[in-house]
Amino acid sequence: MKIANDTVVSLTYILKADNAEGEIIQVADQENPLEFIYGNGQLLPAFEEHLMGLEKGSTYTFTLTPEQGYGEFDPESIVDLDINIFRQSPEGEQMLFEGNIIPMMDQQGNRYEGRVMRVGENSVKMDFNHPLAGKTLYFTGTILDVRNATPDELAHGHVHGPHGHQH
Ligand SMILES: [Zn+2]
Repeated sequence: MKIANDTVVSLTYILKADNAEGEIIQVADQENPLEFIYGNGQLLPAFEEHLMGLEKGSTYTFTLTPEQGYGEFDPESIVDLDINIFRQSPEGEQMLFEGNIIPMMDQQGNRYEGRVMRVGENSVKMDFNHPLAGKTLYFTGTILDVRNATPDELAHGHVHGPHGHQH
């Protein structure tokens, strides 16, 4: 069976920065594969395009530009926030350390994740870029399985089973 819309794909991948010699960013192995409904908009569109038509046992290697991936790095997404924003609760204070990812909401209710770059006396420098922004993404992996999504899975918009939702 070939990968097409509304099939459930199970695959392994190794994601590296730039090329085959690049730093390893993420791995999904046989014990913990990535499973998703193809064509459901869950993954990067360019990632899915490269998998179209592959079948169980197929291997793949491709590269996505930053534009096809998580966008260019935007210097304007690095901002200084008043430290009092974080001091409104004890939990907020504990989250203030370099490298920590903090979920935040703006006044319109939009949600963002920011990484703490530096904690100053009165302000906190936060980076709201996606961690993979500006990176060229090199993917290699194997298709472990392809099957039709069940009506339940299509209705819920996610995969059921050992590596998916169990409910
Ligand atoms: Zn479900």
